[in-house]
Amino acid sequence: MVSSVFFVDSTTTGELKEKYNEDKKIKILLVPGHDSESGGTVFKNIKESELNLRLSRELYSFLSSNPRFEVESSRDDSGYNKNITEYMSINKASIEDFIKSKKNVMQGLLSSGDISIAEGVIHNTAPEEIAKRLYSINKWSNENNIDLVIHIHFNDHPGRKINKEGKYSGFSIYTPEKQFSNAKASRELADYILKNIDHFYSKSNMPKERLGVIEDQELIALGSYNTLDSIGLLIEYGYIYEPQFTESSTRNLIIKDMAYQTYLGITDFFDKKEYLGEYWKSTLLPHSWSDIVESGDKGHDILSLQVALVLEGFYPPKKFLSDDCPVTGIYKRCTTEAVKEFQKRYKITTTGRVGPKTMEKLNQLYSKVTSD
Ligand SMILES: [Zn+2]
Repeated sequence: MVSSVFFVDSTTTGELKEKYNEDKKIKILLVPGHDSESGGTVFKNIKESELNLRLSRELYSFLSSNPRFEVESSRDDSGYNKNITEYMSINKASIEDFIKSKKNVMQGLLSSGDISIAEGVIHNTAPEEIAKRLYSINKWSNENNIDLVIHIHFNDHPGRKINKEGKYSGFSIYTPEKQFSNAKASRELADYILKNIDHFYSKSNMPKERLGVIEDQELIALGSYNTLDSIGLLIEYGYIYEPQFTESSTRNLIIKDMAYQTYLGITDFFDKKEYLGEYWKSTLLPHSWSDIVESGDKGHDILSLQVALVLEGFYPPKKFLSDDCPVTGIYKRCTTEAVKEFQKRYKITTTGRVGPKTMEKLNQLYSKVTSD
């Protein structure tokens, strides 16, 4: 027998639910990826570190409005979290030791064959300073009894030409590889978050990200070398060059809704909701439409229209895949076809454009706040 904590669960869904049901606060740390110096990926004038921060702020406000959660962020507009920065400067030596000893344990287990290397998606290696910060966040989280650590990122397609869109689109959720002590509970939370985001938005179409939840052994954020005791997730909310993020009229709206879907996934994990009809919720509805919209238009009206069409079961329309018809706030063929199906259902002439009658029906169904 190998005596190592590696194989013992350091967190379980059962324990976390017990804590939640006893009305003890669930402690959550949000880590918006990168910072102003090491900004992550860039597309035209859009910086990943800023998208990460915006999404993190939205998620922070949903979580902190719920008294069951105690939420902290590793970084905000004014810079890094003071507690973590101070912790790093006081504990330099013990952080070095922590990294070294965790690596030694894992090397030992690898060479004895008790654990194995799992090949995954290739990531950019974090620069040394960033790597140290990420390990420090793990150690700090372990010592401060954090229950969930959620890293927030936007993805990029390596090797794409500067200012040209890459080939892939969609979101993905990375979880610790199954041999790690925080793997099981992390996976369970990831599946709940996946369900919510996936209902409205498309999973990544990069072959290795196809399933939406991807196990990973190398990302420090998830606890590589078994350095994180709590649940650890890293969510890539989409590829930075996707039109819904580059278009300024819809970017913040969609980021807010993706944060909300993440929040709903977290509460579902604790409340274990059943996924019944009329369950799905979005910050993009209710919405009032007051202008005629049609193919070629874009913006808030279109975004909310697409979300309403998802709820009607018409988006993506018949014979289309969700990859081909992401919710983008841009009125193209997918929206035209979906509006035709909507018009058929409500016995409106099928034009594929939102004229006065279609608008009236949409407003009747989706412009009022419905009580829960
Ligand atoms: Zn990133």
